[in-house]
Amino acid sequence: MCGIVGYIGKKQAYPILIKGLKRLEYRGYDSAGVALISDNKQLNVYKTKGKVADLEAFATHKDISGTVGIAHTRWATHGEPCSLNAHPHFSSSERLALIHNGIIENYATLKEKLQAKGYVFKSSTDTEVLVQLIEYIQNSNHIDLLTAVQLALQEVIGAYAIAVLDRDNPDEIVAARKSSPLVVGIGTNEFFLASDATPIVEYTDQVVYLEDEEIALIRRDKPLRIVNLNNVECSHEVKTVALNLGQLEKGGYPHFMLKEIFEQPDCICDCMRGRINVNENHVILFSVIDHKERLLRAKRFIIVACGTSWHAGLIGKQLIESFCRIPVEVEYASEFRYRNPVIDENDVVIAISQSGETADTLAAVELAKSRGAFIFGICNVIGSSIPRITDTGAYIHVGPEIGVASTKAFTGQVTVLVMLALTLAKERGTLSEAEYLSMVRELSAIPSKMKEVLQLNDRIAQLSKIFTYAHNFIYLGRGYSYPVALEGALKLKEISYIHAEGYPAAEMKHGPIALIDAEMPVVVIATRNGLYEKVLSNIQEIKARKGRVIALVTRGDTVISRIADTCIELPETPECLEPLITTVPLQMLAYHIAVCKGMDVDQPRNLAKSVTVE
Ligand code: GLU
Repeated sequence: MCGIVGYIGKKQAYPILIKGLKRLEYRGYDSAGVALISDNKQLNVYKTKGKVADLEAFATHKDISGTVGIAHTRWATHGEPCSLNAHPHFSSSERLALIHNGIIENYATLKEKLQAKGYVFKSSTDTEVLVQLIEYIQNSNHIDLLTAVQLALQEVIGAYAIAVLDRDNPDEIVAARKSSPLVVGIGTNEFFLASDATPIVEYTDQVVYLEDEEIALIRRDKPLRIVNLNNVECSHEVKTVALNLGQLEKGGYPHFMLKEIFEQPDCICDCMRGRINVNENHVILFSVIDHKERLLRAKRFIIVACGTSWHAGLIGKQLIESFCRIPVEVEYASEFRYRNPVIDENDVVIAISQSGETADTLAAVELAKSRGAFIFGICNVIGSSIPRITDTGAYIHVGPEIGVASTKAFTGQVTVLVMLALTLAKERGTLSEAEYLSMVRELSAIPSKMKEVLQLNDRIAQLSKIFTYAHNFIYLGRGYSYPVALEGALKLKEISYIHAEGYPAAEMKHGPIALIDAEMPVVVIATRNGLYEKVLSNIQEIKARKGRVIALVTRGDTVISRIADTCIELPETPECLEPLITTVPLQMLAYHIAVCKGMDVDQPRNLAKSVTVE
């Protein structure tokens, strides 16, 4: 988590840094800070609890001059969010200032060592240890900053993306990364530094993605130099990023989340573009064809993911098992990585992560790779860490997702999983021609059906007003709808802070039914499919206990409308594609309830978008 921005060049750094932080604010927003070497050679650090706007207010009337600077928006791991713990952190002499994304795991040992030498710490962060250590190493060995950073990082266990400024050298920023992302933007007579390319694209499309344990020496009027911790020069490839600025703005919507919900029909078209051809009646994920042999001989697929991506994985399991008849397991990446899983070269691991930087998923991929498994990545952010280390994969191509609660990335992930399952099923011959063709047609009809669902927005906004009283919600679904229930509940928790549980509908009677009373809203995904009658009985059970049922039904359903308190009618879709339709009203419900409650929808408390710490 956390956003890092840096600038060195001819322009004033402060406005560039602030704008950059705002673009990265989705990554963390509990405190923010900036360090600048001013025109009169002072190293000024301004930092405060709160958002980037609070930092701007704090820095008003202060000296914000300078053509070199670094800035940070924090998502606290060690030490509460407060001004003292905000980054940048000064070294003892206040000659160095450092920003950090990640966790220094052995900070306690390093801190004790430095305290024994008389170093005094101002914050309770792990980060401050690093800047003190760098200064200590530099002072005791009389070496340059780069060498001190190299030596310090050799002592560090953990994850970091860092940038360091030295008051005595206003012509240089030293930056390094391990397991946390860092991108250098190359402009004309200027350089940018950021956690992802979004703060950079306004100025240049030429970027270098740092690799693990690489250090960038970013100097005024000199070429970019990249070395490793042992000072060996590293070759680097300059990439061209294709991001358009409009994608990074709200485009007239009150929140990014609503914009992203409404973008879904277009996103799914983008996701399918070049991969599905209705006229020729086929769907092809080229990465599957390119690695056909390896994928076809897999004995088992394991999907690793976290949060919303894990829910997409649960849908992927059902798709791949039913279309391709290959066993699939779905694992939380954070559990998988630490439990010595049975995995070998016969396995295929599918890693799903919107940002492509999720620390736990990245670690799970590394583990699976070391055991010989073949890795297929499903990510959104092009050039991010997971796509760089996987054997192959497919981008979801839904454009930047800024709202912290994931929406379009989820439906993009499910779409890729459908295409993956269909491509494989075709190769394996496990679907009949008629089933295959009907799936291709139905999948390509999804964007227009999503548009129909989006027309329910006003109605769902009205409905949401009723539920602001609720402290709890239950979401129920079966089969393909069970992960949708989990996802609906997660959305509500994330942005409205209402406790919500997703459950397989039939499991209700094994416990949660005890929670039902007249106060309890129960969202039931009750579309007309194979388990319709069963879900109907589950609704009766809830109504018998006076629960308030909001049912998602297939258009024209007359049975459930007589029992449920509210029905939301959705276009008819094959069961396996229904998650792409049923998720949308649940996103809107969570969004509107949160708005009615006055919550900060795009930046909910305690969360950050790209979870780059474990
Ligand atoms: N571990 C550091 C802290 O708690 C950095 C967290 C971040 O990545 O924002 O301050």
